[in-house]
Amino acid sequence: MRDLLFRNLLRKPLTEAPPECDDRALTELAAAVDRAARRRVGRSLAIRQVDAGSCNGCELEIHALNNAYYDLERFGLRFVASPRHADVLLVTGPVTKNMREGLERTYAATPNPKWVVAAGDCARDGGCFAGSYAVVGGVAEIIPVDLHIPGCPPSPTALLQGLIALVEKSTRGVQ
Ligand code: SF4
Repeated sequence: MRDLLFRNLLRKPLTEAPPECDDRALTELAAAVDRAARRRVGRSLAIRQVDAGSCNGCELEIHALNNAYYDLERFGLRFVASPRHADVLLVTGPVTKNMREGLERTYAATPNPKWVVAAGDCARDGGCFAGSYAVVGGVAEIIPVDLHIPGCPPSPTALLQGLIALVEKSTRGVQ
């Protein structure tokens, strides 16, 4: 027993190493989203996340944008609690039958101009849940989608790149 205790005290923890992250690239990406948003809406972006039936893998990556490591708020990008305060609806998951009405009502409650981003493979076409009795399909089958960010789940960096592409695309549209 004592040997086992000593061995465990000296052994490294059996956890995976954290993923590599280029902090400078991340900072540039987030700053680019903020610049593009200020050009388009005159202020930073407000994002409302909607889980339309996801397995929560996508949410973990989205939450990572707010953790101490990525700390998205330092660039002025905010997640808001109400669709009435949102510019962007960031929707994850296949849309389940139970969430269909909630998604439609959230979309209706979001003021114009608004954008819808479908995040993750399930949000595109139902992904691995397609064909389930409980699933309606991808987000675009329920509400108009401006951008799809692929991945299962998409990484925080991919989410930021998607937001830049979205705002840049809409900025070109109004010029
Ligand atoms: S795309 Fe992947 S991580 Fe996201 S909800 Fe679907 S299965 Fe889960």
